[in-house]
Amino acid sequence: MLTPAQRGEDAPLERSLRPRRLAEYIGQDRVKASLGVFIEAAQKRGEPLDHILLYGPPGLGKTTLASIISAEMGVSLRVTSGPAIERQGDLVSILTNLKAGDVLFIDEIHRLNRVVEEVLYPAMEDYAVDIVIGKGPAARTMRINLPKFTLVGATTRLALLTGPLRDRFGAVLRLDFYDPDAMLEIITRSAAILGVPIEEAGGRAVAMRSRGTPRVANRLLKRVRDFAEVHGNGSIDAQVAARALTMLEIDDLGLDDIDRRILLSIVEKFGGGPVGVETLAAATSEETDTIMDVYEPYLIQLGFLQRTPRGRVATRHAYEHLGFPVPASLDTQQRSFLDET
Ligand code: ADP
Repeated sequence: MLTPAQRGEDAPLERSLRPRRLAEYIGQDRVKASLGVFIEAAQKRGEPLDHILLYGPPGLGKTTLASIISAEMGVSLRVTSGPAIERQGDLVSILTNLKAGDVLFIDEIHRLNRVVEEVLYPAMEDYAVDIVIGKGPAARTMRINLPKFTLVGATTRLALLTGPLRDRFGAVLRLDFYDPDAMLEIITRSAAILGVPIEEAGGRAVAMRSRGTPRVANRLLKRVRDFAEVHGNGSIDAQVAARALTMLEIDDLGLDDIDRRILLSIVEKFGGGPVGVETLAAATSEETDTIMDVYEPYLIQLGFLQRTPRGRVATRHAYEHLGFPVPASLDTQQRSFLDET
């Protein structure tokens, strides 16, 4: 089981900030509309929901959606994660303990090991697991039937999922970064739950710097609240928000120290790139996975970074944002890297 502490969240608070029903879930309209239809259709047929794969950067609400699905279907939710399931037996025991209709959420499903993953194929397709009893020539397989359940898988890297696993999901839904209006709504909702007075301009200031990510927004909101209580009258206006966020070294676009280190590395150490992600990780002392899952998607979305076949390159916007002169040859150079795609 993945506890909130392992996910780096303040446990009880984080749980209360999590929307419980689909109607409470802000933004991601496309995903919400699809899920709404799937849920209603499954309920009308009196059947469990088809397996669903959610993908997108961390903190956008995949776990939240899994718990909403179980709430809307009126069933229990079992939460686990790819790296937590080490052996086939672990997964078999989770599966055989499910009740009819239950939702099994596997976070980071791309990190399931291949041997374990094979257990999922018949489980997802035929609601059955095959277990081997005994060893050597006397060994035989026994099929155990499972209750009809719904697997909700979440991944930050769709490309790392094997074909057979991906094909067994009835729907694959992509979560995008939230737009500023949705972020403002999320921040206003969280502030109300936390009992923090917040002005719209204050909310917008936090929204702007939250990288289109609700988890980041909730974290910043709590830090800004602390600042408002210590340095202000407890209420969050534009000025308090701006001062608190500057103190946290988060710039106008929501970039923090690590984003800046990544961009600076490409620009200063590698002449604007292309540079391989592993080299970049070593140069910035960050994990390759963290760069790929957490930092890169937002830098790409901002148009500061591009992935080319030869590695990462910093764009003209990145130079401008960092206050560096844009090399004259940059655009032609980058066009040639991209043409290799
Ligand atoms: P993921 O599983 O994608 O990493 P989570 O589901 O854990 O993300 O979401 C992170 C936090 O962001 C949750 O605790 C929840 O409070 C908040 N959150 C996510 N999506 C929404 C949303 N659509 N509306 C309001 N809050 C949200």
